[in-house]
Amino acid sequence: MIDPVFARNPKEAERLKEKHLAIIGCGSGGSALALMAARSGIGKLTLVDPETLALENIGRHMLSRADVDKSKARALRDAILDVNPRCEVEARQQRFSDDLFRDRTPDLIASCVDSFACESAINDYALRHDVPTIYGGCWGEASVGELLYVVPGRTPCYECFASFRRDRVEIPDDPRKYTDTEFDATKVPGQAGLWANILIITGVMFQLVLALVDPEGDRQPLIDHEHTLFLVNVSKYDSVLQPLANTFAKVKKGCNICNPTVDLRPSTELLEVAKSIEPVLLDDHGTTDVPALE
Ligand SMILES: [Zn+2]
Repeated sequence: MIDPVFARNPKEAERLKEKHLAIIGCGSGGSALALMAARSGIGKLTLVDPETLALENIGRHMLSRADVDKSKARALRDAILDVNPRCEVEARQQRFSDDLFRDRTPDLIASCVDSFACESAINDYALRHDVPTIYGGCWGEASVGELLYVVPGRTPCYECFASFRRDRVEIPDDPRKYTDTEFDATKVPGQAGLWANILIITGVMFQLVLALVDPEGDRQPLIDHEHTLFLVNVSKYDSVLQPLANTFAKVKKGCNICNPTVDLRPSTELLEVAKSIEPVLLDDHGTTDVPALE
């Protein structure tokens, strides 16, 4: 019998109960995605994040003050079990690594991380193990969301797209890279942006999660394996992208993994769009008076 919690979405709950979603990164996007999945009736979640919750996270996170200093992944697991105690949730306070999924390969990976190195590591794993993956990000005070899905063997991979994403952000040099062997020099500093914007972007991302994790479901038209990049314009009114709409874009194969003989990159139009979306980076404490980096 289906749990009464899912009385308003029995169809999704029935279809998702055997599915395993791994969410890498439990920040503003990852925490929202996790609870969307839990409330939809997903059967198994693996949550991965090495960090603990800080006060400056709370303005746009599913967790609250009572969870400060706790592992984001573990506190999120408790919040999910409050919604659906039958959901099998594995919380890992660690960075992404290959041995996370020794027992069971997930049906889908959702990357909600802020590190290019981590995104590349996820891409590498997902291609080797044939796991569809969706990568979420946002720029310009979360005014525009950027969602890329990869189906191994069917679509260009994350690396085909990576230079487009990385060229948009200049990461400040940090001397910790010389002293801390664990330091991740590709981690993007916190960006300004409203929770509401992030929720809209994550809501669109979750539609893609549903489409990818359930290939027989009615959201399948979203996945044509050609328009693999979704640009969600929430509040960038001077952009060529229509505000409050999603623009479907193509990423061409162009990395050494997918096709070393083809030199193709995101289209000129796409690069023009990207130039208009500048990130506003914050310092370590998440304060908002830090000027945007050039
Ligand atoms: Zn590729």
